Formats: sequence, C-alpha cells, structure tokens
Amino acid sequence: MVASNANSAPQRDYTYNDCAPRFGVSLEHSNMPTRLAKKKVPPRKARAKTLDRPAPWKLRRSGGLQILESPSLARSTWLTHGFSTRPGGVSERAANHSASDAKQQPAAEKVLNLGFTDWDSRGHVLQNRGEFFAALGASKMRVVALRQIHSDIVHLVSAADLPQGEQALQGDALITREPGVLLTIQSADCIPILLADTKHRAIAAIHSGWRGTAQRVAEKTLGRMQMEFGTRAQDVVAALGPGIGGCCYEVGHDVVKEFSAKFPNAPDWLTGPIDALENSDDDPNWLPWLTMRPPGHAPPAPCAHLDLIAANRAILAGAGVARKDILSSGFCTACRGDLFFSYRREHSTGRMMAAIGIRS
Ligand SMILES: [Zn+2]
Repeated sequence: MVASNANSAPQRDYTYNDCAPRFGVSLEHSNMPTRLAKKKVPPRKARAKTLDRPAPWKLRRSGGLQILESPSLARSTWLTHGFSTRPGGVSERAANHSASDAKQQPAAEKVLNLGFTDWDSRGHVLQNRGEFFAALGASKMRVVALRQIHSDIVHLVSAADLPQGEQALQGDALITREPGVLLTIQSADCIPILLADTKHRAIAAIHSGWRGTAQRVAEKTLGRMQMEFGTRAQDVVAALGPGIGGCCYEVGHDVVKEFSAKFPNAPDWLTGPIDALENSDDDPNWLPWLTMRPPGHAPPAPCAHLDLIAANRAILAGAGVARKDILSSGFCTACRGDLFFSYRREHSTGRMMAAIGIRS
C-alpha cells in the first residue's frame, strides 16, 4: 500500500515527510539545522541510487489524529503499528504566544497526550489512548506497557497477562509472538524503536534514550528475540521513530565519557568539543572556575551534541540487521514542536506512544 505510493504524487489526505531518510542511510531530514546538512549526498551519486530509495514514511490521518507509519512495517499486513503525534486528542495545553499577540486570547491547543502527567487528567489520557488504539485498528487488542526506567531490561509477553497500570513491570523493551497483543512504549525525546521479524512473525517495542542506547537495549532485545523465537537479525526490519535529533540533543561530559568508553565509533555520533569533555573532571562548572569569571559572565559550559538515531542505527547494524532495513522517520522532536512533544524543549509536556501488534 505504501510502497506503491513511493513514486507517485502525494495524496491530499497524507502529508509526506520530505525529510525521510534518503536511500535508507541518511539520518536526519533536510530542514534540520545540523552538521549533517553539510554532508549531502552529491547529486550524481543520489541519482544513481534512486531506484533503491525506500518509500517515505507516512503521516496517516485518522479522525483528528496523525499517525506516523514506517514504510517497512506497513508492508507487513500481518501486523499493525504506528507512532503517535501531538495534534488532536482531548488534552489541553495553553497555547504558546508571544508578547505581540498577548492581547488576543489564545485558544488552548488540543493535544494527544498518551502519558499520565501531572498537568493532564486521567480521563483525558484514557480517552486519547482509546482514540489512538482505534486509529491503529487495535481497540480489541491486549495493550501491554512497562514502567520505563532507562534500562536494558527486556520482557517477553506470552499468553499470560502481565501486570499493568501501577503494577506494571519495570523495563524498556517488550517482545512477543502472540497475536492480539499491542506492545507500547512511551517517549518525548527518547528514541522509540519497533522491530519485526518477518520470518518468524515476532515483534518488539523498545525505549532507547541515552542510557538505554549506552546499554545497547536494542541489541539486547534482538538477542532475546533470537533466544525466544529463533529470530535472525537478517530477517528483522527496524523502525526508529521520532526522537530528539543530533541537531538539538546537547549532552555533557558524563554522556560523552560513557559513549566514548563503550563505543569505538562514538565519535561518529558526537559533535562538539569531544576531547575537552572527555578529559574534563566531574565538576560541571570546571570551565567557568578555570577562567575565573564572575557568576553570570562565564561562557556557557562546553557541551557536545549526540545523535541517538545514528547510535541506535549503528548498534542494530552491528548486531546484523541490514542497513537498508533500518529506517528512521528523520523527525527531531525538539525541532518539530508542531508535531511532537519534547521534554528537552518544554520540560512539562505530553507523551507520545509507539505501538506494534500482530493481528489476530
Ligand atoms: Zn532538532
């Protein structure tokens, strides 16, 4: 369905992501102000590979919602999947407005918040979830969620019920081969990853922020799928949903040190004064102190930018998943406040959900 649209003009009811990864290897979309923007594929090379270009990700409209779909997962008719976005829903956020239009009473923004947050009511969240699950055709499915703790803990979902709600298990990845089960992950900057083993018809949903990425949670999830289902990495397609991009994700020396120590190719994912940060001590104010400037006049502490999409892509590829089968939406949650919640940008914000299930 999606593949057949790859080379046709966009239909009116779909908004195509013009920032979709190019040729299955580009990591970030073109309107993101990033260092990678300078490294565009030369036109000649680009034309030569046009035939291999994957279908773009799709923002499918359903009711008032927009569901982001990966072309590789949408091809598998035995499963349903989707990444929720911000617009629609019944939750209300005070609309942002500048001083110039302060006199106008801004209408509250209606958003699809899918997480229980302090600013939103439980009733709204449950109604939003109901709409999201309905949009996926998953209203009758058994929904499974975890209490996410930025770990590398993977849970197998079998025919038996897992405790949910307040008693939900702690962990950051779910795997199953059970039809009728909807695996869900919540995020608001961290990278949501969905996997499908197209041969054994098994699936996974993974929550991978910097801590999960550093612990290789995606690779460990693949390993667990191999153990439980006989999954081979070459049969897996991976969808990396919207998360904070390398353009916006500032990290300090602690993250730089951890990634540099754990991954030989960490320099590929980090930009900025990496060496200085790697060699700095644990005092976050080391530079202002050294330069002896009065408070408020010190230069900002040095920071690097981390590309979590590139890191997770490399981790999955290193585990044997074909690079052409690892697709990223190309969306940065912090850049696209119109479409996504971003904890880094807003702090008090909503939660999006990535969901995948095997149809009964
Ligand atoms: Zn960004």
